[in-house]
Amino acid sequence: MKQFNAQVIEVIPRTHNVTSFRLVAEEILDFQAGQFMQVTLAVNGCEQSKYFSFSSSPTEKKYFEFTKKMTGSEFSKALERLKSGDMLTVKMPMGKFVLDGTASKHAFLSGGIGITPIRSILKDASDRGLPLDAVLFYSNHSPEDVVFRSELEAMAAEKKFRLVLSLDTKDVCPADWKGRCGFIDAKMIREELPDYQERLFYVCGPPVMVQSMVSILEGQLKVPGERIRKENFAGY
Ligand SMILES: Cc1cc2nc3c(=O)[nH]c(=O)nc-3n(C[C@H](O)[C@H](O)[C@H](O)COP(=O)(O)OP(=O)(O)OC[C@H]3O[C@@H](n4cnc5c(N)ncnc54)[C@H](O)[C@@H]3O)c2cc1C
Repeated sequence: MKQFNAQVIEVIPRTHNVTSFRLVAEEILDFQAGQFMQVTLAVNGCEQSKYFSFSSSPTEKKYFEFTKKMTGSEFSKALERLKSGDMLTVKMPMGKFVLDGTASKHAFLSGGIGITPIRSILKDASDRGLPLDAVLFYSNHSPEDVVFRSELEAMAAEKKFRLVLSLDTKDVCPADWKGRCGFIDAKMIREELPDYQERLFYVCGPPVMVQSMVSILEGQLKVPGERIRKENFAGY
């Protein structure tokens, strides 16, 4: 693991409350898609650190990126003030939420900001031309909350993986919505993934979401724990 200074080169709004920060560093970056970093910056004169998954892939060589849900916290406000040329301290890489190359079939379950390491993994596999049998379930409150939507849809259109977008309730599903309506549950998984017993599951999001997905997988669908990989975004 290394700690070094990195420079902000671009700040990219992704949705109304999610922003990506692209960074460059003189260090040689050595990380696996799906891992995370620690970011330290001055917040009202005091240094504060938080963990963020890479939302970029190791194949994107010109920068590395993390993507934050802006919550109104002091840390979020300090990030909002960042501009091109500003410096941050980064420690990386950390974590084991990476693609298991020994499995032949994968399923990703994600909600909201939990898409970040999964975007990294899917982009990496796509860029490296890995023949991936993968399905991504990605749930959000409303269409406006879907992070990386056009990119995920473009990769799915190229058959890099199958995308199942869902919105929380029927009330928020627009008339032209082509995805699913309702929370990801056992019924949705059974319908979309008849071969779910053969798949390795990756679950990422706020702890409440991860806990709920794991209890559906283990409790209702009887997926053994060793076939479930988890990344908890502790802090939400
Ligand atoms: C392995 C790992 C990977 C992670 N990856 C990501 C990632 O890719 N992207 C990401 O966004 N997060 C990620 N997280 C979570 C991240 O580290 C932070 O914990 C999270 O972003 C919350 O930080 P915060 O500064 O927004 O809120 P905190 O200040 O830590 O407060 C927690 C909650 O309180 C509320 N809150 C706090 N202050 C205010 C305020 N003034 N007004 C209103 N509400 C407030 C917010 O709703 C917030 O969610 C990851 C965590 C882990 C452990």
